[in-house]
Amino acid sequence: MESECIKYMKLSGLEPLIITPESNFINVGERTNVAGSRKFLRLIKEEQFDEALAIARHQVDGGAQIIDINMDDGLIDGKEAMVRFLNLIAAEPDICRVPIMIDSSKWEIIEAGLQVVQGKCVVNSISLKEGEEKFIWEATQIKRYGAAVIVMAFDEIGQADNYQRRIEIAERSYKILVDKVGFPSEDIIFDLNIFPVATGMEEHRKNAIDFIEATRWVRQNLQNASVSGGVSNVSFSFRGNNTVREAMHSVFLFYAIQAGMNIGIVNPTMLEVYDDIPKDLLEHIEDVILDRRDDATERLLDFAETVKGIKKNDSTKNLEWRSLPLQERITHALVKGIDTFIIEDSEEARLSVARPLHVIEGHLMTGMNVVGDLFGAGKMFLPQVVKSARVMKKAVGYLNPFIEAEKGEKQKALGKILMATVKGDVHDIGKNIVSVVLGCNNYQIVDLGVMVPPEKIIEAAKRENVDAIGLSGLITPSLDEMVYLAKEMERQNFEVPLLIGGATTSKAHTAVKIDTQYKNAVVHVNDASRAVTVVGDLLNENTKNEYVANLKKNYEEFREKFLKRGKTKTYISIEEARKRKFKIDWKTSTIKKPKELGIQTLQQISLKELIPYIDWSPFFRSWDLHGKFPDILTDELVGEQATSLYEDAQIMLQEIVTKQLLKPKGIFGLFEANTINDDDISIQKKGKEITIFRTLRQQLKKRDDKPSFALADFIAPKTTNRTDYMGAFCTAIFGADELANRYKAQEDDYNAIMAQALADRFAEAFAEYLHHRIRTKHWGYAINENLTNEDLIKENYKGIRPAPGYPACPDHLEKETIWQLLNVKESIGVTLTESLAMWPAAAVSGYYFANEQAKYFGLGKIMDDQVENFAKRKNISLDKARKWLHPNITDN
Ligand code: SAH
Repeated sequence: MESECIKYMKLSGLEPLIITPESNFINVGERTNVAGSRKFLRLIKEEQFDEALAIARHQVDGGAQIIDINMDDGLIDGKEAMVRFLNLIAAEPDICRVPIMIDSSKWEIIEAGLQVVQGKCVVNSISLKEGEEKFIWEATQIKRYGAAVIVMAFDEIGQADNYQRRIEIAERSYKILVDKVGFPSEDIIFDLNIFPVATGMEEHRKNAIDFIEATRWVRQNLQNASVSGGVSNVSFSFRGNNTVREAMHSVFLFYAIQAGMNIGIVNPTMLEVYDDIPKDLLEHIEDVILDRRDDATERLLDFAETVKGIKKNDSTKNLEWRSLPLQERITHALVKGIDTFIIEDSEEARLSVARPLHVIEGHLMTGMNVVGDLFGAGKMFLPQVVKSARVMKKAVGYLNPFIEAEKGEKQKALGKILMATVKGDVHDIGKNIVSVVLGCNNYQIVDLGVMVPPEKIIEAAKRENVDAIGLSGLITPSLDEMVYLAKEMERQNFEVPLLIGGATTSKAHTAVKIDTQYKNAVVHVNDASRAVTVVGDLLNENTKNEYVANLKKNYEEFREKFLKRGKTKTYISIEEARKRKFKIDWKTSTIKKPKELGIQTLQQISLKELIPYIDWSPFFRSWDLHGKFPDILTDELVGEQATSLYEDAQIMLQEIVTKQLLKPKGIFGLFEANTINDDDISIQKKGKEITIFRTLRQQLKKRDDKPSFALADFIAPKTTNRTDYMGAFCTAIFGADELANRYKAQEDDYNAIMAQALADRFAEAFAEYLHHRIRTKHWGYAINENLTNEDLIKENYKGIRPAPGYPACPDHLEKETIWQLLNVKESIGVTLTESLAMWPAAAVSGYYFANEQAKYFGLGKIMDDQVENFAKRKNISLDKARKWLHPNITDN
């Protein structure tokens, strides 16, 4: 280790920030983080950079000595946003006087930031998570750029969660950085992981004290290194009780700073002055933070009730709001999504106004406007808004008979919007959420459902005289449907705006392929929270012309840039790619014969058995809550909302299981298989070919000896004279539509969407469950496998189950082959639509490969020569091959 030389970390923006033992605690502003601030995320997505800058300025004015900038979000181009924002900051002296913390989990974003940032910044973060080699490489680059670095206490095994692991990982990281990389020790900051205490779990009791003691150790033993962390984590279990939380933060910091923590993310408004904490509360909190008594948590919980009375987040039980004036009660009910009293309150309102319609236009809209504002400001989230809509619908349902009896005019909507999932596609959760959100913002929705043919969309749009058309799609063939519709709208002289959304859509595809077909407005809206503003701008008489002109210009510029940037990659011929195939040594590679060859159906699976296999993170994503389960339940921003959503999900899950409201059905087959002619897999029964799977091969030109993959590479070629094996499967959940419709009939969109989302979870869990049984039983190539659900989600098992439509095999055509081979339709009733989407929508299908070298990859763009060759091999027309293999435009 280094010599006994004391050095101080020197950072800078326009002004220097030198961190010495005399410095006060350095606090980092974190509102310029798309993962931490909904508002900031929205501003970046909508490219409102001026307002985003205002947030940065506000942080600095408020005393932040460093500002953390994070642009990691699936819906924005993080690299571009980072560079653009840093460049803008550089022109604002009142912001860029402080140093920047470049925060990303993607190296390319960090590096792009390092290239433009001025002064000496901090990189947040690197760790040993993916091994030493990557760690050393990144640290070397950071050193070259002259930045300081945050090192997370994380290694190949996972996050450090006790004292010993924290100091081991810190010491190991430090030694590598100082001895191997030559990283200046004063530029190293450890984030030692602040975790919640008082959670009720025995293993969390020492979370705070372990952090504090590990901090002391680092500061005493790792010369010149600093220690940082995110403070609000510690008090997560007291969400809703700010009195306790604020006091906990102060107590924690009081001890952590004494132990040497010198940097941290702290929300200054969530901090009580240590000396002002009442003595009895202080004692209870110190008991918890310092783990001083066995019953510390219970005692603090009991005490917390007295500090706060009833906890804030238990709004359904606390009835104090019932004594508020009428309008406030209605607004409260809408904002909190409580429908218990809404009919009673609507009646009271009705009696107080001249006409029943006035209740909707007055009381209810006033409340919904508050919901809209909170949502727009990032203070409310989608599940809550959908719940608000449920309260609204209940009230309107109650008032409608009075309005009709009066024969008066109905409430005037702001506009009429047609919504449809296009022909051949079956997914509609996202579309339903957008419909509900628009509906509760006073738009009338004409929802045509799923698999809607273009003629029907056009016809309904004319008949209903709609003001806008929204199209949704999940699978790639739907992209062509959307292009076709845009053309039709142009041909039939439509003028209304066209909104595009759904998992497979993108701004690129919309700008390049759809916008060019239609003279009028085309907008990609992939986020329910944006739909309201976009539609508002499109339909507002005063602003719409300017808005549409800007939109068209924006898409044109985007298109030009996009088309230019695609041209830098080169591709090789299919013959060349085959020469560079991924080579497994078939002389030595283990091939395990399945214990049970042939096809089996599974109709008697119990839902209960599948529950442990559920991956919950995508469930939250479908509600626009982003984060990893279970951490998301305690997330500072969305934790409360995620917890409430999760609780509602558990209630429905129980009901589904006990009343058997959904029905799982599955089928699989295990077969003899050999690769023939490089790219095809011949499936055999007792040596006789029964079908052939066609696979596609990567053609992107790669560096050095990097192979060009095709799935066929993972199966032994016929020429080896070794019999290999392969499987195929389909799992599905029946009954989701019926269940959802039952809720819709009760005006309960919240639970209708919930039912669909849970059915999707069950279908994926079934696939996971079945794959596990295949590995350990039916095929039996990994009998002793012992993996947790976490391992399964991370796919830490041997072998893969690629699914047609996903990156390794993006064409959907081979689903037809799976259907024929397994007789899927006749056996379990899952069908394929004309776009080869599966029905019911909650369904998964794919192949099984067992070879230990089999891995997922992305096909990328393929060239015409392969498409032609594929058409010949499969004996289909070139047109048909082009249609199904046409590479998604966003591939490059
Ligand atoms: N646990 C998630 C799993 C869905 S996505 C959930 O519950 O929603 C993971 C699946 O996608 C994999 O099991 C595989 O079937 C498919 N997949 C992922 N990457 C792939 C690739 N590159 N090529 C083909 N299929 C892939």
